[in-house]
Amino acid sequence: MMNYSSNLNPTDERTTRNNIIRLHSLLHNQFSAPIFVPMIKYCWFSSGLTDEKPLFKSVRAACFQFEISESVTCCKEMCENPRFLKCSHCRDILCFACFVYEFHYHFN
Ligand SMILES: [Zn+2]
Ligand SMILES: [Zn+2]
Repeated sequence: MMNYSSNLNPTDERTTRNNIIRLHSLLHNQFSAPIFVPMIKYCWFSSGLTDEKPLFKSVRAACFQFEISESVTCCKEMCENPRFLKCSHCRDILCFACFVYEFHYHFN
């Protein structure tokens, strides 16, 4: 069973090249979710290349805002860590450890 202190991984070196690449990989994967397609299309509107103004959810609204009815802890089995984000692909609510250390990545 995980607890809050398990978020601190003594072998983790967030500033190492591999872990920076790992974080960017997760970030890029989150932004590739269909929920962010209108947000990316907005770039064409804001730069004046199209008149079509798409409505979109911001990253904050999509990944870091929760309904009152949603769990305050991670949804993974045997994990009771506090929630960190809502996955933009599967909408699961995850803690930092399950997202980063377990590498919550979605393939097409
Ligand atoms: Zn997911
Ligand atoms: Zn978790």
